[in-house]
Amino acid sequence: MPRPILATIDRRHLRHNLARLRQFTGDAKVWAVVKADAYGHGIERVFEALRSTEGFALLDLTEAERVRALGWRGPILLLEGCFEARDLELCSRLDLWHVVHCTEQIEMLAAHKSARQQRVFLKLNSGMNRLGFAPERYRAAWVRLQALPQVDDICHSTHFSDADGPPGIAAQMAVFDRITADLPGERCLSNSAAALRHVQSLQGRSDWVRPGVALYGGAPDHLASDAGAWDLRPAMSLHSRLVATQELRAGDTVGYGSTFAAEQPLRIGVVACGYADGYPRHAPTGTPVLVEGQRCRLLGRVSMDLITVDLSTAPQAGIGSEVTLWGQAAAGPCLPIDEVAAAAGTIGYELMCALAPRVPVQVLDDL
Ligand SMILES: *Cc1c(COP(=O)(O)O)cnc(C)c1O
Repeated sequence: MPRPILATIDRRHLRHNLARLRQFTGDAKVWAVVKADAYGHGIERVFEALRSTEGFALLDLTEAERVRALGWRGPILLLEGCFEARDLELCSRLDLWHVVHCTEQIEMLAAHKSARQQRVFLKLNSGMNRLGFAPERYRAAWVRLQALPQVDDICHSTHFSDADGPPGIAAQMAVFDRITADLPGERCLSNSAAALRHVQSLQGRSDWVRPGVALYGGAPDHLASDAGAWDLRPAMSLHSRLVATQELRAGDTVGYGSTFAAEQPLRIGVVACGYADGYPRHAPTGTPVLVEGQRCRLLGRVSMDLITVDLSTAPQAGIGSEVTLWGQAAAGPCLPIDEVAAAAGTIGYELMCALAPRVPVQVLDDL
């Protein structure tokens, strides 16, 4: 028997999440963000479920080639644009739309020889201070691009730093409006957090939205809210089984560093899952784990291939019992990936992206 760990990717949940997002974004066209191999889910695995999107957005040229190889003829957007001049040849060949966020990228375009005109997404740095033209330089960049024969159409875009928290998007929207108000062209705003939380302020103002994590069933604003409250369903679940149990006496310790000591007799389960599977090594004692659908707590240190859990809340469990590290348990309940991530001091995004290559993956679908 193979080691009993398994990740499942549920296409029904991906379809549900895309439909759910559209309830918030109205008529806006959707870029389904599939960077980082679809947030660790695998581009090839999610493609069918997301193909009712208007476009796919990603960073990596080889990922763009993979989307084209799946037969996608619609728009693909390179979220960081070209990294070097010859990337533009691929943009022409594969018909990729691309972000232009710096002067160097304009120079590359100006020097590019191609029969096909390029569709570009000019990026304004409205306060995030990562990528984009400063407000006072944006219009000059637009004028310059506009004049290039290589350029077909220019869409205005920016990225919000605080759509998930109290600062919100108002300050950045004010900058965006001030700079772009009288310029022609479409607008592209909104990650998942903005799309879900700022429906009113974005109504009719964003021709394109760029949701990522919400498609995969993660809450972009965990702690303030959660996936269940947004009616998002986990696309990825990580399952395993108990491979051993131990009866601890008072004073016995568990695992490397003996960081957990039993205060009283305690039955524990040993799960075939560790940090080499992508489970977060920093998850502390108390991190939730489902055993046969019941919430248990992690005990002691996460090791490479195994973790240990307190079976007090799942007394019937034994070797072979089903364990859900995150996502949807067969028994029904769901353990939000964001909750596991928060316990480990990180975010659901990171756990999804870090699913290890050694974990077998099964795709669930009802078709
Ligand atoms: C990753 C990314 C997104 C998607 O963000 P989520 O928080 O996952 O919705 C949107 N826009 C840009 C520019 C990105 O890099």
